[in-house]
Amino acid sequence: MAVDATVWVREFAASVAEHEEELTALDAAIGDADHGGNMRRGMVAAVAALDESGITDPGEVCKQTAMVLIRTIGGASGPLYGTFFLRCAGALGSGSEIAEFAKAFRAGVDGVVARGKAELGDKTMVDALTPAADALEEQVTAGASAAAALDAAVRAAEAGRDGTTALLARKGRASYLGERSVGHQDPGATSAALLVRAAREAVR
Ligand code: ADP
Ligand code: MG
Ligand code: MG
Repeated sequence: MAVDATVWVREFAASVAEHEEELTALDAAIGDADHGGNMRRGMVAAVAALDESGITDPGEVCKQTAMVLIRTIGGASGPLYGTFFLRCAGALGSGSEIAEFAKAFRAGVDGVVARGKAELGDKTMVDALTPAADALEEQVTAGASAAAALDAAVRAAEAGRDGTTALLARKGRASYLGERSVGHQDPGATSAALLVRAAREAVR
């Protein structure tokens, strides 16, 4: 993988901690005000597990992270991010190219969709993750470098995140609000954009 999995997990943990209040404030508007705390708690535990195990194999790093997230985060985001990392782990081979990361990332997104049944436009993390996976594949096909491919993925994820503001929530807690969910950025799409940016920071 052109993305160092250990660095990816650590960067995501740092970013989630930095944005905890923002994630919680977004969830306060259309959910139950725990997304920042959920993600910080899960990622603190994921980093602690990395420290303790000393694992560096990319597949093992993603698998361990998945297990910790599923165990540590209550609520929707635990199983969903857990599934993301578990499917990533399953798709990682021995290659070290951006093409392999793109494949693993797509497998992770497919897992989130299979588990949560959200479609594009339902105002969830899928609205940031799917455009990022699409951008990665396009860039790989065009022969882009890892850095360029992930730059494009970050732009796509952040555009998708921004696009959630105008949407009506059709999945998760925010869907209980109906029309009142419109006009608020989705918390999960916001953390998902941080996940993609963390991968950009982990290009080695
Ligand atoms: P909870 O809603 O259980 O409190 P969190 O607040 O941690 O969990 O996470 C909320 C986020 O989870 C939402 O902003 C949304 O992006 C995401 N989410 C919720 N349900 C789904 C689903 N079915 N598919 C994809 N993402 C979802
Ligand atoms: Mg919540
Ligand atoms: Mg909750």
